[in-house]
Amino acid sequence: VIERLCIIGAGLIGGSLARALRTADYCREVVGCSRNPAHLQQAVELGVIDRYDTDPVQAVAGADMVLVAVPLGAMEPVFRALRGHLPADAAITDVGSAKASVIEAARRGFGELPAAFVPGHPIAGTEQSGVAASFAELFRDRRVILTPVEQTSTEATARVRAMWEAAGAVVDEMDPAHHDTVLAATSHLPHVLAFALVDSLTRLGERDEIFRYAAGGFRDFTRIASSDPVMWRDICLANGDAILQMIDRFSGDLQQLADAVRQHDGETLQAVFASAKQARDRYVDKHT
Ligand code: NAP
Repeated sequence: VIERLCIIGAGLIGGSLARALRTADYCREVVGCSRNPAHLQQAVELGVIDRYDTDPVQAVAGADMVLVAVPLGAMEPVFRALRGHLPADAAITDVGSAKASVIEAARRGFGELPAAFVPGHPIAGTEQSGVAASFAELFRDRRVILTPVEQTSTEATARVRAMWEAAGAVVDEMDPAHHDTVLAATSHLPHVLAFALVDSLTRLGERDEIFRYAAGGFRDFTRIASSDPVMWRDICLANGDAILQMIDRFSGDLQQLADAVRQHDGETLQAVFASAKQARDRYVDKHT
């Protein structure tokens, strides 16, 4: 059980974890922290946090667990503000969507990696943001990847694992670089493609017509293009190398499809579509 949880960045992810831990009776007090007091007041009114402080040093005082759930670009300033102020017995973790960059931000912000810092990433979210969009079930049966490094204490890792399990998640551990490669393929590339497709279509000129006739396929494929632009800018900047590798690979595959269309090569087109359909059907069967 957590006595005092401090959430820096009580938005969709931070707020949802607070709600889940309260529902599970796993946490006695939640203290929020972010830049805008109006957002924090809203979190109090929604019953997500008990109280707040916009000063991170005051907010973490007396906490035994600190969750940093700010956009990737804000991680380093938050860590720097906390340098020398982490309570001795606190574990600290984050939820950033790329891991090597957060570990580097922690190393720079704290001066050295604290043993109590356990890098983490819940593989759950929605295209909404802010505390009003948070809900207690967000992490139920979803995966959380922890990427502890050599300096990370096993005791802190065990506490962070137990917290996510209390929120209903299934916890895996992975090497940070491996995490970044896997997520570039499964999440970052699809988001880049969705943003790129919608942007490209809106610049075709016939904007109204495109959206009037855009039905199921367009809606399904582009839902994630409603995600927060700042968050996705930060993810592309933070995990650029792995994302570029995936974009290069995908561009080659797309070019091959274009060649098949150009050459009226129905056999290749059908083979690619059939193999994709089979893989996707199998995936959907397993995950619904
Ligand atoms: P969000 O709903 O926009 O919440 C971000 C929170 O951070 C807000 O409470 C914001 O409050 C605060 N914040 C922003 N800049 C800050 C700063 N410089 N200092 C202190 N607080 C700051 O975003 P989210 O979707 O929860 O994402 C948060 C993190 O989770 C990101 O690192 C993202 O990569 C990761 N993540 C997101 C998803 C997803 O699907 N959304 C999934 C997995 C992981 P103020 O405006 O009041 O400062």
